[in-house]
This record gives sequence, structure tokens and C-alpha cells, in this order.
Amino acid sequence: MRPLVAHIDLDALRHNYQLACRCAPQSRSVAVIKADAYGHGALECARALEAEVPAFAVASIEEALNLRSGGVTKPIILLEGIFSADELTLVDQHGFWISVHSEWQVAALLAFSPRQPIPVWLKVDSGMHRLGFSPKEAPAVWQRLASAPQVTALHLMSHFASADAREGSYFNQQMSILTGLAEQLKAPLCLANSPATLAWPAAHGDWNRPGVMLYGSDPLEVANDVTQQLRPVMSLRSEIIALRELEAGESVGYGGRWRAERRSKIAVVAAGYGDGYDRHAVDGTPVLVNGQRCAIAGKVSMDMLTVDVTDIHDAAIGSEVVLWGASIHGAVLPVDEVARYCDTISYTLLTGVLPRAPRRYHGACV
Ligand SMILES: *Cc1c(COP(=O)(O)O)cnc(C)c1O
Repeated sequence: MRPLVAHIDLDALRHNYQLACRCAPQSRSVAVIKADAYGHGALECARALEAEVPAFAVASIEEALNLRSGGVTKPIILLEGIFSADELTLVDQHGFWISVHSEWQVAALLAFSPRQPIPVWLKVDSGMHRLGFSPKEAPAVWQRLASAPQVTALHLMSHFASADAREGSYFNQQMSILTGLAEQLKAPLCLANSPATLAWPAAHGDWNRPGVMLYGSDPLEVANDVTQQLRPVMSLRSEIIALRELEAGESVGYGGRWRAERRSKIAVVAAGYGDGYDRHAVDGTPVLVNGQRCAIAGKVSMDMLTVDVTDIHDAAIGSEVVLWGASIHGAVLPVDEVARYCDTISYTLLTGVLPRAPRRYHGACV
């Protein structure tokens, strides 16, 4: 079998979730498992977390129904609410919670007769300028929903544009809008994503919404002592399938992007962009071979990539190669670091791992 496997450590997932809870002991944390749990497998992750989380968050009713049909019984919040009015029947039937960000959603909800009232998170646009009611519109919408028999457990929800930045002026601007509304409406809050959970206690509400940190990625511009305790959940591992010696001046791969400056040993690894490994990885992007750091040399191909292992003396056919995550030899290559070399973020690398890379689950609950 092809050796490329995305190993998923469900114990690390639970460890990271518990860290999120410890950051915000006064809040309850929904575990955000949208986009197939950021590429880790939504059902497996939900089952691993279900005993300790009060609720899950996903992006669509399809994702929520997939969890229900897999036997997940905890509340599930649809972060973008319904995409059409007819979804309300399923929302009611399965006990989903919904966010409400647009007038048409309010109208649909108030025209609907659920069997039991639906928990609603009213989304306010405090500065992200993507979804939600303006701070001016929000109080009137809040009053309509608060008095509607269709609605229960009404919360105010908002999303931060730059909680990951060390510089907090935009965060504080959003926060002051939200504190004003919360006081005026006596509204319970749900504001914090991972970076706000980790770095901005002022944003901790009745609920928080940590996502990427659950998977072990550090979303902060500057790491803190909590992010240093995060453990990688996905370890994308493969093996060396061929080795060759190059003379100084010879090049590797498409376009000959990497050229040997000395006699070099090149390892060919079974992993490529056809598995979701980013083709934008530059020469020098780190990988671990037998737990030792070395670097990509040459453009990533569909099924293979090439690594300079001149200084890795035990590199052999069959040697372990870690593209990100933990090595069986103990070393760790953070997905955040690989992302920087690909001019992207951990979110795209993790959600981008394609079905050709099989997921293999590890941990006490498997
Ligand atoms: C995805 C998402 C989150 C989680 O964000 P992270 O940065 O992954 O923690 C929180 N809230 C909303 C509305 C989201 O869409």
C-alpha cells in the first residue's frame, strides 16, 4: 500500500479541547467541527469529544445531519443558520440551534411553527463586515426574537476580524460595540473563536467557539504559554520510496527549480498535491525524515515530492517522512510552520488533505 497516511490523534484532540475550556473556565465551549472537523473527520472527532462538550458547531445543515445520522445526539449549532426557509423543518426535527444573521431568516423563523422553541444566536456585525445585523439594527431584531414563541435561549453572537494579532486596537473597537449592546439588551454572549479564547479573556462569553486550536494549530501571531501546550492532532506521514545522488549543478523536478550546490542525496517521498500537500511549498519547506529536519528541494508533483537528505545519514527507502505533525521518533513539525512556507495558513492545509490520503484514528476512545 502507498505509505501516505493522515494519522489522527483523538487523545490530543481532547487534550486541546480541555485546554480551551481551561482558558475560559466561566464559559461553555462549543467544539467547532465544520468542514469535516477541519479535515480530521467530523464524525470521529465528534464521537471522541461528545462526552465532554455541551454542543458542536458546523457550517451547514448537511454537516449537522451527517453528525445526527452518525449517532451524535448533543446540540449542534448551524453557524450560518439556514440557507433556505424549508430547512427549518429539519432544524426543528433534529433539535438544531441556529444563528440568524439576515432579515429573511428572521422572517422565515417568525413564520414557522416549530414543535418546540429553537435556540437562536443573533449575529451582529461588529466589524468583520461579512455576516450579521449592524449594531444599529440589532436591538430591534433582538426584541422581536426575544418575544417570539418560536425562539428560546437567545444569545448575541459576533465574530472577530483580527483576534490573532498582538496589536489589539481593532479587537477593542469590536469589543466596545459588543459590550455596549450586551449591556443594553442584557444579552448573553458568544464571541470568541480560537485566538480570542486563547488571548482575549474580555471576549469570553457564556459560550465560546474554538475551532482550529482543537486541532493543535496555534492561531496567534505570537505564541503564549497555552498555545505551547497544544498538541498536533493530524500527523501527515509517508515514506521515502526512492533515493538518488546528484552531482553539483544537477537539478530536481519540474522546471529544475532546485539545483544542487554540492554533491547531494535526494529522497523521493510518496506525497504530493494530489493528496492535498500544497504545491506552493518553496525550496526549504521543512519535513522530518526519521524525526530529523530537512527541506523540500524542487517543485511538489501530484504524487511525489523531493527532499534534500544529504545530511541525513540514516535516510533510506522506507524511512518515515513527516509532512506535518508528530514523528514516531518524537519530533514535531507544526503545521503552522509548514503553512508559512506555503504562503498560507494551517486551516487550508488541514482542510485540504484529500480523500486519497487515508485517515487512521488513534486514541483511547477508538
Ligand atoms: C470557523 C468559525 C469559528 C472557529 O474559528 P477558529 O479560528 O477556527 O477558532 C468560530 N466562529 C465562527 C462563526 C466560525 O465560522
